[in-house]
Amino acid sequence: MVIIMQAGAPESEVNAVIAAVEKAGFRPWINPGVERKVIALLGAVDAAKAELVDHFSALPGVERVTLISEPYKLASRRTRPEPTIIRVGPVSIGGDELAVIAGPCSIESREQMFEATRAVKEAGANLLRGGAFKPRTSPYSFQGLGVSGLQLLAEAGRAAGLPTVTEVLHPDDLDVIAEHADVIQIGARNMQNFRLLQDVGQVGKPVILKRNPGCRIQELLMASEYIMLEGNSNVVLCERGITSFEDATRYTLDLNAIAVIKRFSHLPVIVDPSHAAGDWRYVASAALGAVAAGADGIMVEVHPDPASALSDGPQSLRPEKFQELMDSVARVAAAVGRRVARPE
Ligand code: PEP
Ligand code: MN
Repeated sequence: MVIIMQAGAPESEVNAVIAAVEKAGFRPWINPGVERKVIALLGAVDAAKAELVDHFSALPGVERVTLISEPYKLASRRTRPEPTIIRVGPVSIGGDELAVIAGPCSIESREQMFEATRAVKEAGANLLRGGAFKPRTSPYSFQGLGVSGLQLLAEAGRAAGLPTVTEVLHPDDLDVIAEHADVIQIGARNMQNFRLLQDVGQVGKPVILKRNPGCRIQELLMASEYIMLEGNSNVVLCERGITSFEDATRYTLDLNAIAVIKRFSHLPVIVDPSHAAGDWRYVASAALGAVAAGADGIMVEVHPDPASALSDGPQSLRPEKFQELMDSVARVAAAVGRRVARPE
């Protein structure tokens, strides 16, 4: 249930509604809103709330009360009609600017990280990615450099003036990750690792939540709810391909997800064409399709020498290919009213 206050309702009336909500045994969550405040009721079944619609509707300053049919509340557009814009240093995700997150799958060495950073910065990326804790299918594969990788990522990001994104695998690593990176990524494999989601919700850093290839959009939104419920509303959703019968590509990119998420949620949505395609040859068309379809950003794997990459080499773009992609991205973005902001 959400209680929509009248535009300009005085604070005393808002506070009285909040008190009434608490008295009725619910946890209120307030969206400050640009025009009017919206108070969402959390933590109980809708059937119990239905009778309360008349009760809350009668309170001074209340414009209307509506029941939210979706199981997610904080991620719902009904709780927050305006889009969420997340600021990461000089970059905004979810507004007119297009976020371009690029960098290697894994941080492998100082030379590799700095070379990749120079290339993506030059081509116009505005956020830098790199994995230090890698979720690998095989325990014998490269697992990432851990904390020394985080240090390299932070150093490279600082030198280039690019905010950084890296993945967390385990709650124990959250503090050191938050110390070194600007955005915390929850990878596809951990989308429903609920304890990790709750812990990330308590960290004051924006989160990129990647969709698990076997999960529905609604499950992705429910996962974001776990993070937001802990007080962190800065969640970016990421479509990165789902499982299908098609085996010509690594996954099947669900571009429908962009419009669906935007219909039901205020959260920004980005697309990772690299993991979806699994092959560098298909990355550019998937990325451009995502931008044309209204994604708030893209996340692309770029490696100075993909043939020697310790993870995801086959899907990584060489710097020249990424530069070509960025030239096309700028044109498609302009055609759909977006632009790629370049941090100085
Ligand atoms: C990644 O971004 O490096 C990654 C592991 O992606 P995903 O979680 O989408 O597989
Ligand atoms: Mn990867």
